[in-house]
Amino acid sequence: MSFKELKSKRDARLNQAGTAQPSVLSEKETGNDQNQLYSQLDGSGLIIKSVSGRGRGLWATTTMKPGSKLLSLPPHIHVLSARFLDTHCSRCTIEAEVRRCTKCLTVSYCSTDCQREDWKLHKEECKAILRWKAASPDGTPPADSIRAIGRLLWSRKLMKATSDWWLEVNAMQSNRDVLSLETQESFTHFAQSLVMYLDVNSPEGLRDFGIDSARDLVDLMSKFAANSFTLTSSNLSSLGVAISPLPALINHSCQPNAVIVFPRATATKPPTLEVIAILPINPEDEILAAYVDVTLPTELRQKSLEATYNFTCQCAVCTNTEEVDLRSSCYCPKCSEGYVRIKDRGKASVCTKCGAALVVSDDVKDKLRVAAEGLQKAEKLQWTESEQALRLTTNILSLITPFSPPSAHPRLALMRLQQTLLISELRPHDGKIDDIIRVSAQVVSGLCDLLPLGHPIRAVALAEFGKLLCVDEPALSEEDQARNSFPPRGYHRLVLAKDTLVRANNEVQIGFGPGGGGLRDEVRAILENIDREMAVYRKGVTNLRASATQKK
Ligand SMILES: [Zn+2]
Ligand SMILES: [Zn+2]
Ligand SMILES: [Zn+2]
Ligand SMILES: [Zn+2]
Repeated sequence: MSFKELKSKRDARLNQAGTAQPSVLSEKETGNDQNQLYSQLDGSGLIIKSVSGRGRGLWATTTMKPGSKLLSLPPHIHVLSARFLDTHCSRCTIEAEVRRCTKCLTVSYCSTDCQREDWKLHKEECKAILRWKAASPDGTPPADSIRAIGRLLWSRKLMKATSDWWLEVNAMQSNRDVLSLETQESFTHFAQSLVMYLDVNSPEGLRDFGIDSARDLVDLMSKFAANSFTLTSSNLSSLGVAISPLPALINHSCQPNAVIVFPRATATKPPTLEVIAILPINPEDEILAAYVDVTLPTELRQKSLEATYNFTCQCAVCTNTEEVDLRSSCYCPKCSEGYVRIKDRGKASVCTKCGAALVVSDDVKDKLRVAAEGLQKAEKLQWTESEQALRLTTNILSLITPFSPPSAHPRLALMRLQQTLLISELRPHDGKIDDIIRVSAQVVSGLCDLLPLGHPIRAVALAEFGKLLCVDEPALSEEDQARNSFPPRGYHRLVLAKDTLVRANNEVQIGFGPGGGGLRDEVRAILENIDREMAVYRKGVTNLRASATQKK
């Protein structure tokens, strides 16, 4: 998942215009033979093309609407993160009653089918995990990345080094020659762990895996770092990591026209990675997906792209330095309706509404700096000290909410974290549900300002908002009711829940492709419940009216 064939960072920067024009290259370089390697390209309406300065990428040959499935394929390998090994099936990734492998007591399966199917790979893995756990002081299994590369190398033995399967892995781009010192160091450390995990005692032992030198080993790790995908559930929560060489050819944009999702986990079937169009795509358009969270402001996106993928993004969002970018803006201090871009010291920006040229005050910038630091702290604390993390996010939000729109950083990130923390702390009937609904509404509004209709992150946020509106409402004092007009109560709440879930239902079928995956099933089931509840309400009202008429 990076700029393939990109030889140096300099090449990427040379492409200043950001207009990728196919260059005149030889047949071999344009990758016509590459197209034959990937059988999944047949009939997909996609081809591999090389563009000077950008390397290989996937390009459309036909028109595709938002919601179209561009590719659908099982990843070459996938592994669950350590924290899901006890709750999810290691093969099909569903969350279910799982049983542990009786030998390593580490990976679990939903069924004997899954266990049997996985055994050809797990056989080696099982022994390696046992060895690893015996050697580690607290008996923890190896990191996700180590387990993933282990699987890749054992698969290579099974699939043979000359198979297309391995040739695809081999053709993945490596940034070996442009790695920073920091990355080189972390790779050295990583290599030691990997060698230990594979139980290789000599360099010859690595030859069995096709690794002939230290260079080859670094190459493999660089390929893994730059090309792996986050394995996600049907509502986008991160489950682990996956390797899939063909979609990894897709280049990055902070304004992508496609997304990569795993719409549905099906019992006893390996997961399926799907590439879905989220904007209209025309013939000769390049397919672009985001490697980083596009709700983050330019500075943070660039930093993370540099660190992991070794390039500087030149997309329209990254090169815009003048127009208002809602990720880094505040409400206009003059009219308080428009937005003003936050710029470096002393530079004025024009309000989108009243047109005034204004300099954002140092006070606002200071508060935003404090808020960004607080966000980092709260993110670290969320797993260990969730109550403290929640207090921190709530305090910082009250500091910046008066001038920061819901789409701006770090407000949006703080609200998303706050929502997660509030939900995890929620107890039945504790009256907090209305607070969560208010945060959730703001999260939806922030995301809708930044992401196109049907973006899976938006769809998930809408579904979440709709679900929260269906939780039993708390008994509120009249005072509390008067203080907060939102969320509505009773029948009006049901109406809002229904509207929200109908929207979610539509957007899920874009962002997760036709069918909408597991999330759509969930949304539809709740919608049916709402319809039933609404019918009961209406019947209640009719009965009331009837009895009122009788009394007359
Ligand atoms: Zn399973
Ligand atoms: Zn085992
Ligand atoms: Zn960009
Ligand atoms: Zn204004």
